Amino acid sequence: MTILKDVYPDKVLSFFEELTKIPHGSGNEKKISNYLVNFAKERNLEVIQDDDLNVIIKKPAAKGYENGSPVIIQGHMDMVCEKNKDVKHDFDKDPLKLRIDGDYVYASGTTLGADNGIAIAYGLALLDSHDLKHPAIELLITTGEETGMYGAIALDPKHLKGKILLNIDAEEEGVFLVSCAGGVTNYVNLKTEWENTNGEALRLEIKGLKGGHSGMEIIKQRGNANKLMGRLLNVISKEVDFYICHISGGAKNNAIPRESEAIITVKAEDIKKVEEASSQLLKIFKNELKVQDSDVNIIVEKAEADKQLTKNITKKITSYLVLAPNGIQTMSEDIKGLVESSLNLGVIVFDENKISFISAIRSSVKTLKGEIMDRIDTLANLIEAEVINNSNYPEWQYDPDSKIRNLCVDTYKEVTGDEPKVDAIHAGLECGLLKEKMPDVDMISFGPNLYDVHTPFEHMSILSVMNVWKFLKKLLENIK
Ligand SMILES: [Zn+2]
Repeated sequence: MTILKDVYPDKVLSFFEELTKIPHGSGNEKKISNYLVNFAKERNLEVIQDDDLNVIIKKPAAKGYENGSPVIIQGHMDMVCEKNKDVKHDFDKDPLKLRIDGDYVYASGTTLGADNGIAIAYGLALLDSHDLKHPAIELLITTGEETGMYGAIALDPKHLKGKILLNIDAEEEGVFLVSCAGGVTNYVNLKTEWENTNGEALRLEIKGLKGGHSGMEIIKQRGNANKLMGRLLNVISKEVDFYICHISGGAKNNAIPRESEAIITVKAEDIKKVEEASSQLLKIFKNELKVQDSDVNIIVEKAEADKQLTKNITKKITSYLVLAPNGIQTMSEDIKGLVESSLNLGVIVFDENKISFISAIRSSVKTLKGEIMDRIDTLANLIEAEVINNSNYPEWQYDPDSKIRNLCVDTYKEVTGDEPKVDAIHAGLECGLLKEKMPDVDMISFGPNLYDVHTPFEHMSILSVMNVWKFLKKLLENIK
């Protein structure tokens, strides 16, 4: 059954519906990749499928557009597979069950894959058309975006000749993205030194924080449980002699940690002082975080410990947590309200031999990412800890001279009468990787209104799909 076929005269939505019948979760892209290859072959279009199943389909320019360079239209073919607990659905085999509710398309109980199936649908509608005015098109559909942008990482840019790239993986109509952050995961590993305990054990916990995504929500300046634990240990260190026996916090380096815990030992007569210092500090936290994290709490309770870290290591841990940079580092001067550089001390992992402090560093300016890494390096040196950086991904820096940005703004106004917003995100996009491979390509990212993406409630506005389609057609017409 097709429910979207007649919703709109052009074929965007019916192609979209066809895609939802082909399972295409991340890592399971072979079928949809082959579908795209066949789509091209059926229409006698040049097609390239690489070893990573990325697909590039080329369509010649329409009459009168032969002199311009091709335009790359880009999206990703994989989708996030999430379903409600009570829903029976096999993402490896079953087609999605589409449902229309007012202006919205949903998949019943599962993700819809409008992220990023709608980009493919626009691309296929362009390839399928005979009457549109457009430069040569290179439709680039990548794999593995949701799990690490593997397709974009593997892509060989020699297949592409375009000098303009339209990424259709943004989720808000009327917002044009022109920059994204690059990032790196930073590990500071401190070797442990143990000795027997000589005091009473106390368990300290920071909790009640909201957390959130370390890129998109770092601007909210919520409490970071690991950093607050550093302040707690530092305050305690001024009052009493103590030793750390255990410390851990957070779950993911790209999530602001909501909880952090430590076990320390102190002399029995000092327990009261620790409790008092903690409750004083809690008042301070509650004041500092009264808007964004008013439920912050500190727990101090009796615990057990049979060995403790040496004074030396205890001091190093406390010093690192107090001094480690965290949160917003710089704000953009190009785009108002954009966090340019930040980091999140997301996780503290504790084991017998070492303690790892793990931070997700982001910046839309490569050298500022490097500056943060240098500061952590310097600090790690001081405490004689080892530093490892991995999962480095490149930024897409704001280009003040971008012509496609102005053309998109003007065309959007022409088509809808509304003033669009030019924005950037403090998280990674495939554009960062593509920009690194194709530095002289002028890029922009946009898309129709999608909601609750990556959840079983994902839905897409039909009206907005239509608006963006009208815009896209006009934009291509305007690229001469
Ligand atoms: Zn996406």
